[in-house]
Amino acid sequence: MAANKLSAVRIAVKEAPITICGSGRVRSDESVVHYPPQCANSVAVGDNVFCFDFAFGPTVSQRDLYNTLIQPMVDKVMDGIDCTVLAYGQTGTGKSYTMGLAYSDFCDEQHLGIAPRCLKAILDSLSQEQENRIVSAQVFASFIEVYNEKAYELLGRQSTQICSRGQRFNGGIQMPIRNQDDLLNVLKVGTQNRHVRPTNMNQNSSRSHAILTIYVLRPNCSKSVRFNIVDLAGSEGVRRTGHEGIARQEGVYINHGLLSINKVLMSMSSGHAVIPYRDSTLTTMLQESINARSYFTLLACISPHTCDLAETNSTLHFAKGAKRLKQQHKRFAA
Ligand code: ADP
Ligand code: MG
Repeated sequence: MAANKLSAVRIAVKEAPITICGSGRVRSDESVVHYPPQCANSVAVGDNVFCFDFAFGPTVSQRDLYNTLIQPMVDKVMDGIDCTVLAYGQTGTGKSYTMGLAYSDFCDEQHLGIAPRCLKAILDSLSQEQENRIVSAQVFASFIEVYNEKAYELLGRQSTQICSRGQRFNGGIQMPIRNQDDLLNVLKVGTQNRHVRPTNMNQNSSRSHAILTIYVLRPNCSKSVRFNIVDLAGSEGVRRTGHEGIARQEGVYINHGLLSINKVLMSMSSGHAVIPYRDSTLTTMLQESINARSYFTLLACISPHTCDLAETNSTLHFAKGAKRLKQQHKRFAA
């Protein structure tokens, strides 16, 4: 059905509930984000209006967001196409919660995020295939973080460095996943091994980019199909985290990774022959998944608070820039 056809690149925005973010700082009672009724899927902040493919308000449920934004990508994975969903935005705007990488949210169906919902859909779809007597595929998961420009394996007994910028990435440990408990175990081990640090913005701020990959390996295929769920470190400037020394250097590396994602998206949208994947460890690791043959969704997470206005505008401009990539993909499709 043409109307339901997934375009290769989709840009979505999600506003965090007013009650949950802005920890430790002055909270506003009213959101700075508005939804102009005359323009579907757009948000207005001050005089600026930004139009995207999806605009999710603060009350959207985890289930509705999954059904609208992610389920069509899972269908693509089942058709053999690599997909990536990437959460971008400042700390405390619900990136880890929405991506389903916060292990503590596993107990309550209502709070289940993208990762466990994806896995369930993939396993359900595979067991359906098995009923139809097609030999079933196997599912695996890897969990890696990029911290200070080095990639770490999160599924070992302790976090182990596996590659740094410019080195070839040969993949991490792939754990067999047969059910939600296996995924829960991956997230439990992985989140315990992640680098976090209290900042001015959040008591438990992720200082690394995390990449959870679900692999579907079909019989007689040498290569798995990948679904990357990427939870980027907070995009706020070094200025706002209030850090010096090592923590400040972490902030510089975080910004470098985010900048390089931006550069990759921009050069793809300009149609350049050479894409600067090698500029950062993050983009090196995503090289095989952010390209003209795969499907990509950016979820820009924003805060409702006045004190976060500068970061909110910066996130929305980043997302607006990524829209150019969408136009380039349309050209590929033509
Ligand atoms: P980030 O990863 O962007 O720093 P988190 O995902 O850690 O932000 O979210 C901050 C806190 O807010 C967490 O405790 C999370 O569980 C909670 N949270 C985020 N979004 C929601 C939501 N839509 N509903 C309820 N709680 C949320
Ligand atoms: Mg987080």
